[in-house]
Amino acid sequence: VGRGDAPPAPPAPPARARPEAPPTTHSVAQPGTAASPKTRTNPTRTETRRKPAAPRLAPLLADDPGLGASVTAVRGVGEKAAARLARLGLHTVDDLLNHVPHRYRDYSETVAIADIETGRDLTVTGRVVDVRSARGKAGKQVVWVLLEDATGRLRLSFFNQPYLAKSFRPGSRIAASGKVEQWGGRAVMNGPEWEKLNADGSTSGRIVPIYPLTEGVTQRFVLRHVQSAVSQFADLLGDPLPVWLREEESLCTRPDAYRAIHTPQDAAERDRGFRRLAFEELLGLQLWFRQKRRARRERRTQALDAGRGAMDLFLHSLPWPLTEDQRAAIEEIAADLSVATPMSRLLQGDVGCGKTVVAAAALVQCAAAGAQAALMAPTEILARQHVQSLGALLEPAGWRTVRSAEELALAAGHERVMGLLVGGMRDADKIAMREAAAAGGVRVLVGTQAVIQETVALPEQALSIVDEQHRFGVMQRATLDGAADGSPVQQGEGPAVHSLVMTATPIPRTLAHVFNADLDHTVIEQMPRGRRPIETEWLAPDQRERAYAYIRKRVDEEGDQAYIIYPLVETSEHVEARAAVEEYERLRSDTFADLRLALVHGRMPPAEKEAAMAAFHAGDAQVLVSTTVVEVGVDVPNATVMLIDGAERFGLAQLHQLRGRVGRGSKASMCLLVTSGGGKVAHARIRALTERIPDATVEGGTRLRNGLELAERDLELRGPGEYFGTRQSGVLDPFRFARLSDTKTLAAAVRVAERVLDEDPQLKDSRHGGLARLTRPYHEGAARK
Ligand code: ADP
Ligand code: MG
Repeated sequence: VGRGDAPPAPPAPPARARPEAPPTTHSVAQPGTAASPKTRTNPTRTETRRKPAAPRLAPLLADDPGLGASVTAVRGVGEKAAARLARLGLHTVDDLLNHVPHRYRDYSETVAIADIETGRDLTVTGRVVDVRSARGKAGKQVVWVLLEDATGRLRLSFFNQPYLAKSFRPGSRIAASGKVEQWGGRAVMNGPEWEKLNADGSTSGRIVPIYPLTEGVTQRFVLRHVQSAVSQFADLLGDPLPVWLREEESLCTRPDAYRAIHTPQDAAERDRGFRRLAFEELLGLQLWFRQKRRARRERRTQALDAGRGAMDLFLHSLPWPLTEDQRAAIEEIAADLSVATPMSRLLQGDVGCGKTVVAAAALVQCAAAGAQAALMAPTEILARQHVQSLGALLEPAGWRTVRSAEELALAAGHERVMGLLVGGMRDADKIAMREAAAAGGVRVLVGTQAVIQETVALPEQALSIVDEQHRFGVMQRATLDGAADGSPVQQGEGPAVHSLVMTATPIPRTLAHVFNADLDHTVIEQMPRGRRPIETEWLAPDQRERAYAYIRKRVDEEGDQAYIIYPLVETSEHVEARAAVEEYERLRSDTFADLRLALVHGRMPPAEKEAAMAAFHAGDAQVLVSTTVVEVGVDVPNATVMLIDGAERFGLAQLHQLRGRVGRGSKASMCLLVTSGGGKVAHARIRALTERIPDATVEGGTRLRNGLELAERDLELRGPGEYFGTRQSGVLDPFRFARLSDTKTLAAAVRVAERVLDEDPQLKDSRHGGLARLTRPYHEGAARK
């Protein structure tokens, strides 16, 4: 290779590439020795995502012999290594075994150099034609390897590992695996994993786990210790699944599963391992949910069965006809409430579909039967909003709404009184409200969950309604005792109450029966008549000015209000997304200098946040610049425009919920989505939001997809192949091994759980000891609360 073919001057390596101590025993054939900067930083984030906060559900093994022991019990792990593992949150043998690879490098699937796509993670094989060491611009040392196959040549670069130069001999054949990037117009694979090819030119065919890492901890280090833990401890793992179940569901044993995920011979073996552990996770959750459901059916509460009189009066007093879905929801709930088995129902429906009136009907039925009810919202603003909108619905039916001691006094002796209780009220008002609630003068108490839960007793309470629980994950549900729905009143052995949870978070049908296995489920899909669809446009970054001009026109000329949403609170160097704080400053001093702007983001003190929201609510602020915190239930009918900047960074459900903040009044509304990047899937999401689909039942014959349809589309887009890809964090997903898109395993777990519980509802049979143990983390999570 002549001078003319000299490698391009390497650009400064990524700042995050740190020198790596050379491995003490250096084996060329061992993949995973070269630590790439990529695998070192990204996984840190994966790791935070994968490790949910307490209670941890995955370590089901801590009570097995030896597995709760310190990592130093593993051969080859001394105090120093233990300290490094601790940085990954790995303290016990159990932690080490449950450190799940976030992906695998597959040397058996190779790509011809001519077919390389930049940006993709891939493996190539070829002959080494040149090796040279150089010093990069920033003084970093780099080893360049030129690799050739029948179709072309590719450069590999290794930073700060000068000792590697000796490992590559020109003429030898290797496989290299990593991401290819364009540097100075040439394709370069930076810091690849690699291995020598066999004599016959084949790769080892193995797949190699890639673990979540953190600063100063290498793949090689983690791989070695995890594998050592597996060989030493896997056989002690025991197996909670009875033999008949393993056979029937074709599942491998637990020890085999751990071997399969950490030391797989091939992809098929790895998949068997994951399937087994996924099944176990799902079964544990299903057993627990379904046990609770059965237990709830055994409990008794007040039957709210004073007849239909009050309810019919209320329904007749409504200013508009109910939608069919609303009517069905009201009747379903009415039937639940009229019997002594406590209701536990989730009411799901897009923002604006009209869930409030359904709640109001339940409150009416409860009051008619002489019982009290609490309605709780996540924030003070929402609680106040509820009192207002419930008041508007209930006052024509003879209710009084009270917000202060004075109003309470005026309502004295009145039968149907609804009171507000939130932290921001004057102390005297709060005290009066609590006393009236305890004495029975207030029949329905509306407030924030925190305040009501902690400070009030409603002696005659028979119903609890919790609104907008869409940030409520399975994890949190697991930590709440008694009520899978999070209603506080059912804790412990106290009297049960009927419980209704309302949410705008759509749960795909394929998942609803799995993740709400402990709840009954009602869905409102129809929107009230006469709603104008929210026009939705997808704009390129260079059309931002157009979006600003449109906002100005609506705000200035029409007197409307607008939201501008940014995905992050602070600018992160890795993410180009425009941060709300920065953009707010820019917009305020430049683009919209003459308009009244307000800013809201999650890291603001709550009081400031509420003040900004209130200003927007009152119309004092014309434009609200915000992160996603406005997602939750704000209702400002005069807000007709929403600009979402960096829309590619949001999930489909979230975009949909954000969009639902506009289109709440009689005027036509517009949602502008600006993307500046994002891959195929992100763009497919945006398209799903903007496309209109045929629907003969609405004016014009087409409509936007509703929340449920979008959620289902989202699940499809994520696809069944997403074993190791980005996972949807949060709401539904507390798992390490299970995938939401794996509906087959989900269904199997549901089926098995029901069958086992039919036979042995308490899991008391000694044959089911292992299964009972699978539910223990949930029970313990519940008990801790
Ligand atoms: P959600 O809580 O489900 O987001 P709301 O209960 O706040 O929705 O209702 C949104 C708006 O629609 C409210 O202004 C309400 O008065 C109105 N609304 C509800 N049901 C109907 C209906 N059947 N017909 C017309 N308007 C309705
Ligand atoms: Mg609502």
